Amino acid sequence: MAIQRTLSIIKPDATRRNLTGQIIARLEQGGLHVIAQKRLRLTREQAERFYAVHASRSFFNDLCTFMTSGPVVVQVLEGDDAIARNRRVMGSTNPANAEAGTIRKDFGESIEANSVHGSDSPDTAAQEIRFFFAEMEIAG
Ligand code: ADP
Ligand code: MG
Repeated sequence: MAIQRTLSIIKPDATRRNLTGQIIARLEQGGLHVIAQKRLRLTREQAERFYAVHASRSFFNDLCTFMTSGPVVVQVLEGDDAIARNRRVMGSTNPANAEAGTIRKDFGESIEANSVHGSDSPDTAAQEIRFFFAEMEIAG
């Protein structure tokens, strides 16, 4: 597979429990390189824009409230097959169904507060990276 970039977010449930370092270690152990990173607090407007694809879902409002409830760490990850690789390291959306040894299995609190975000396709990855980072903030 080719080298790809993907967007990762360490969500508020994880920053609140001081799990940032442990999660980054899992990503690095999974073969992903952090090539851009910042900690910030999303505004409501930013959360709604980031998750616009889910605007019609019943969980959208709660999801935006959760994502603005504390700081997040947004990162660009690079590596071989990075988009699928990151999603494998993360595990399934619902921690209850996530595979053993994945971030969501070990750290996720609920289907909503599931500790991490990862882009789901090359197009989404490019769009999500642009949402948070300027080209000069990324150092691969
Ligand atoms: P993923 O993050 O695995 O790509 P989705 O894109 O389907 O999952 O959903 C985006 C985020 O919305 C999830 O990570 C989770 O925080 C939240 N979410 C998804 N499904 C539900 C649900 N049924 N109830 C509450 N929150 C949900
Ligand atoms: Mg998704």
